[in-house]
Amino acid sequence: MADEYPYLLPQPDALTQGYWDALKEHRLVLQRCRSCQTFQHPPDRTCRFCPDEDMTWEEVSGKGTLYTYVIVTQGILGPWRGHDPYNVIQVLPNEVDPASVSVHNNATYNVVYGNAVEVDNDDLEVGMAMEAVFDDVTDDVTILRWKPVS
Ligand SMILES: [Zn+2]
Repeated sequence: MADEYPYLLPQPDALTQGYWDALKEHRLVLQRCRSCQTFQHPPDRTCRFCPDEDMTWEEVSGKGTLYTYVIVTQGILGPWRGHDPYNVIQVLPNEVDPASVSVHNNATYNVVYGNAVEVDNDDLEVGMAMEAVFDDVTDDVTILRWKPVS
């Protein structure tokens, strides 16, 4: 745990506070619609699958499959310069219906972004089983990362 964490820290707001609070407790929660029961991530004020606004947080297992990934070979933002290559991955949590995944404005919805740890970038493989790693980067902030299921 280091308060001098060099990378960008999340800025929780009313919509995302529950997600970050759960990570701090080493739990993964996703927003779920009480009306149609669909999970959605990232969270929003209304359900993207029905017009309901009755959203809740539901804890999920922290297990999923590697949906896709990129290897960044030229980190251009200050803190990442010199730390490449590094991976950025998307994980489909086991509880999320793959049919609910969609892409809008260059962002993929209903997968959870992160970094894979405890694995070489060359060994990443779409479809591999992953599990959550809760990285306490400061006293107040926990970042979600993923590792292959051993
Ligand atoms: Zn809904």
